[in-house]
Amino acid sequence: MSPASPDYGMPLSYRHRRHLLRLLLTVTALFGLVFFVVNLNAGRYGLMAVDLAIAVLAVAMLPVVRTTHHLRRWCLCYLVSIYAATLYALALPTTSVTVFSWVMVMPLTAHLLLGRRLGGLSSGLYLAIAAGLFLWRFGVDSVVEAPGATANIAAVTVWTYLFSYFYEASRESAERQLSQQALTDSLTGLPNRAQLEQSFRRLANAGAYPVSVLMLDLDHFKGINDDYGHATGDAVLREVGRTLSEHTRSQDVACRLGGEEFCVLLAHTDNGAARQLAERLREAIEALRCRHNDCVLYLTASIGVASSTGPGEQLDPMLHIADEKLYQAKSSGRNRVVG
Ligand code: GH3
Ligand code: MG
Ligand code: MG
Repeated sequence: MSPASPDYGMPLSYRHRRHLLRLLLTVTALFGLVFFVVNLNAGRYGLMAVDLAIAVLAVAMLPVVRTTHHLRRWCLCYLVSIYAATLYALALPTTSVTVFSWVMVMPLTAHLLLGRRLGGLSSGLYLAIAAGLFLWRFGVDSVVEAPGATANIAAVTVWTYLFSYFYEASRESAERQLSQQALTDSLTGLPNRAQLEQSFRRLANAGAYPVSVLMLDLDHFKGINDDYGHATGDAVLREVGRTLSEHTRSQDVACRLGGEEFCVLLAHTDNGAARQLAERLREAIEALRCRHNDCVLYLTASIGVASSTGPGEQLDPMLHIADEKLYQAKSSGRNRVVG
């Protein structure tokens, strides 16, 4: 997805909800016009005006919904107007009882557009009002006289509500798991580069300056793989990941960029403080004693530091500078910090 897209950086469901809302708006505009003509012919002028208003609103919302960054608000706006229009139709004494069939699709529409909580809450409220209107229009007697029909309608409505609620709950949980996997390095469990970018954007938006990045590369790591095998190399990478997590603050983001390269993002940290922390990390890695059978593996790392003092700085140029410093650390003997 390109950064210019309004769904960039948003949960996966945003793109689907945007498509769904556009489809619903198109269908609503068409249905609104059809019902406008039907109600005009039937002389139901109030309902006719509501149908026309809904159709016009749907057409006006279509271009907005294509690009808006406030999709949730527009989904809510659409649903509230559809709730209001159908409840108005239900309340009119001149409409047929079949107009109540619209009530059954609302829980599904609400859950798909607004998710489990807001969709469940708003459609639950809507169903309660619709049930009240039914009793008000047809009276308790009609329910008592036709218990089978009433039970069928109630069962289908409750079924639709529960099905859409639990479907949405399991979809949201699957989405959370997928997003977590997409943002996590599977070997070390640390955040990956995608999460680093998200964290940087969050810090930049919160104005958490000065911001620093540490670029860390293990020294002669290929030798560990060659001498002790790839599995031991993996175990060492996991151990380094744990060490970085242990020696950084909760607000710092320690991530694995790939291979034996790691990066730490530091909020509210100037270059001097970042170099101090980098030095502590270097010492912690040097003090690690990883074991392979009876052998003890000694490990060192080189670290490059880059800092930004104010807004406007992008992550990539900072990483590029930190990489240059890392290269200097490597070429001047390794196992050192250059900032
Ligand atoms: P330098 O001090 O210059 O950084 O030397 P180096 O040996 O650490 O760097 P080099 O780039 O030559 O080698 C990096 C090695 O990291 C090569 C590759 O096999 C290994 N590597 C990359 N990803 C993984 C991984 O996921 N697991 C393991 N075990 N090794 C990996
Ligand atoms: Mg490397
Ligand atoms: Mg290396």
